[in-house]
Amino acid sequence: MEIFKLYWHAVQSRVCAHCVDSDRHGHCRLSGEEECGLKAHFPRIVQAILSVHDPRIEPYVDSLRRNVCAACRHQTPDGRCSTRSRLDCGLDRYFPLVIDAVEEAHVGFEKHEPAFGD
Ligand code: SF4
Ligand code: SF4
Repeated sequence: MEIFKLYWHAVQSRVCAHCVDSDRHGHCRLSGEEECGLKAHFPRIVQAILSVHDPRIEPYVDSLRRNVCAACRHQTPDGRCSTRSRLDCGLDRYFPLVIDAVEEAHVGFEKHEPAFGD
């Protein structure tokens, strides 16, 4: 869906450009088995973030765990993720920045896509 490309550009410039695993221009250097959860689950992440409206981070983390991590091959049925424990998941590492980038982009896109995420 084209709208997700627009969200991806917003996240790439806000998050990936500053990530230790990027080339510093926002291009991820990880692929294959190492692919970041941010890339692997992006549309689901956007929907998980936009389904929450709360000043606290915890409801966003809950939504991420329920809607994204639960479908990720790295998480075990009892909710553990060794990739997350090792701080090797860029999505989890930078999640507050991802939230900000998606929500700010959404405010901008809302003028053109009023129904998305509501
Ligand atoms: S590891 Fe994740 S956050 Fe970092 S550059 Fe790659 S996709 Fe972006
Ligand atoms: S924190 Fe773990 S389960 Fe969640 S997206 Fe990252 S690697 Fe997957």
